[in-house]
Amino acid sequence: MAVSLFWYMVEFARFEWIKKFLFAKTAPLITPAHFRGFPEPTGKACQHALFCMMVCPAPGAIEVLHEGDGWKPKIHKGHCIRCGLCVEACPNGVLRSGRVLETMWDQGTSLLFSFRIAIDPDLCMGCGNCCTACPVNKLADAQMGAGGHSATDEVIMRVQGGDILVLHEEKCTGCKTCEQSCPNDAIRIARILEGIQQPIQKPSPEAGP
Ligand code: SF4
Ligand code: SF4
Ligand code: SF4
Repeated sequence: MAVSLFWYMVEFARFEWIKKFLFAKTAPLITPAHFRGFPEPTGKACQHALFCMMVCPAPGAIEVLHEGDGWKPKIHKGHCIRCGLCVEACPNGVLRSGRVLETMWDQGTSLLFSFRIAIDPDLCMGCGNCCTACPVNKLADAQMGAGGHSATDEVIMRVQGGDILVLHEEKCTGCKTCEQSCPNDAIRIARILEGIQQPIQKPSPEAGP
């Protein structure tokens, strides 16, 4: 018994143990750049781009709600996994989480969304519902009626010769309204997300909503 107690005491007397005991590491006084807390509003005005909702991997963690005259992202903490992707994807700097936003500004990095329009020619019957429903098409050609025909080349897509002709894929905002209006599930919008490095406009601290 006495021998066991001796070795037990020897174990505690080890230099490594004493060093760890006396110089225990404490939490850093400065928040590390990689820390990701729950996203919080920065005060910048939400432009309703919805990139935050598109990029969020946690179902039900974020939604953008109409509030007063504008929009505001709302985080549901029970669902949010604090990945910080919404902070990185927002082109307007509306959210911050830990120091992620400041780090992005310093390093000029962000995530970039783009969209691809894919139409299955075997399923598409050329009804034009997708063209008529598209809100970007509506802005480009207010005259576009049922049938999806258009005289202007400024629309994203139109019906031509019984088929859909995609003219300006780069104008697509990824809203997926066209998908919902297609009776045959013939159109699909693919979201492409790339990490990029380009200086983004750092909002001035006094910039408000
Ligand atoms: S931090 Fe991640 S999980 Fe939380 S709302 Fe943003 S994207 Fe969704
Ligand atoms: S996703 Fe929206 S913007 Fe893009 S083509 Fe469809 S309706 Fe138009
Ligand atoms: S709504 Fe669907 S079926 Fe109609 S033209 Fe568009 S993609 Fe084709």
